[in-house]
Amino acid sequence: MSEKYMVEPDLQFIDDVMGLGGESLKKCFQCATCSVACPIAPENKPFPRKEMIAASWGLKDKLVGNGDIWLCHQCGDCSTLCPRGAKPGDVLAALRSYAITEYAQPKALGKMVNDPKKFWTLTAVPAVIFALLAIMTMFGGSFMAGIFGGELWYHTHDGNPFPGIAASNFISSWFVDMIFVPLAIFVVTVFAIGLKNFIADMHKNALLEGKTAKEKIDVKEFLMTLKTVLPKIAKHRQFTQCGENRERSTAHMMVLFSFIGLFIVTSVVFVGVYFLHQGTPYSQLNPIKWLANVSGVALIIGGVLMVKQRLDKKEDQVSSYKDWYLLGLVLTIGGTGMLTQMSRLGGSAFLCYTFYYVHLISVFHLFAYLPYSKMAHIVYRTVAMTYAEYAERK
Ligand code: SF4
Ligand code: SF4
Repeated sequence: MSEKYMVEPDLQFIDDVMGLGGESLKKCFQCATCSVACPIAPENKPFPRKEMIAASWGLKDKLVGNGDIWLCHQCGDCSTLCPRGAKPGDVLAALRSYAITEYAQPKALGKMVNDPKKFWTLTAVPAVIFALLAIMTMFGGSFMAGIFGGELWYHTHDGNPFPGIAASNFISSWFVDMIFVPLAIFVVTVFAIGLKNFIADMHKNALLEGKTAKEKIDVKEFLMTLKTVLPKIAKHRQFTQCGENRERSTAHMMVLFSFIGLFIVTSVVFVGVYFLHQGTPYSQLNPIKWLANVSGVALIIGGVLMVKQRLDKKEDQVSSYKDWYLLGLVLTIGGTGMLTQMSRLGGSAFLCYTFYYVHLISVFHLFAYLPYSKMAHIVYRTVAMTYAEYAERK
């Protein structure tokens, strides 16, 4: 018998997938209604029926490195039509959760991020770091300004602390950057290792299952394909093909573009401070400030809409800790960002610094634990969609 047809069930894998929200997977009796109903499954080897049988047989290797689980956008059309209530949309979501923790190293950190009991331990790390940095800024600011020079240390034109309330008077922007720049390097490294393995597994599976005719991955051609996929992601083309959860596209788009807007703001401020010697905080009339405010408001509205949609669908769709963790972070980051600014403009240093402290902790959560949380889907789905296009998986 060829290796292709050998079945080596991983019973722990079945339990894990069921625990991640795929508890109904055993109800499937392989009628294939779901694969016919799915608006975005390709004609050649469509999903999710084949993933349902592989999951119930515990075929971990076949599923973790399966690009198709990422092509699913969890519209729920298949779950609504499934005659057995097997909820294939939720099973694929559980498989994606499992795949994220499988590819992100170290795995122990991934387990912690996805364990609700470890939430406060993970929160204590940035809470202690930023508390220490606040003490050092407030009590050792003039000492540091003496070493680095006032202009560099305070990020002001006159080399003195910003007169009045400013987040950087509470925790120096230097300190904040000293935390987040190494974190960014760590996150990129974890993703790079994970993606290298993911792409290799995806290609191996695609060849084995006859989903592609391309023997090898041409890196240059693969990267060129990314250019054609990104506009489709930006337009949310897959979401709009949904029947059941079509309204998710607006909320998802708001959150995605808010993060892009905030990323642009952070990059511009970083360049302004370190290369153009521009002081902070920016005037309310500055276009970058407008972009920050519009992105912050859109993030909150998009997050609230997503929470509402999950609550409205609680009978039909499983919501796991991973879903609520990410939505909680989105709302906390948006809310505390806006409240920090409002309390600064309102003249309350105590409220401004308290909200800023919580804001930094939540941004640390999002950033440092990104390769292990549901947020990692941005990276894995983009790569899987690019691979599908590259492999001519129609
Ligand atoms: S998940 Fe439901 S619709 Fe899909 S094959 Fe199984 S029983 Fe049929
Ligand atoms: S949830 Fe939607 S996109 Fe995913 S498999 Fe089901 S029908 Fe297809």
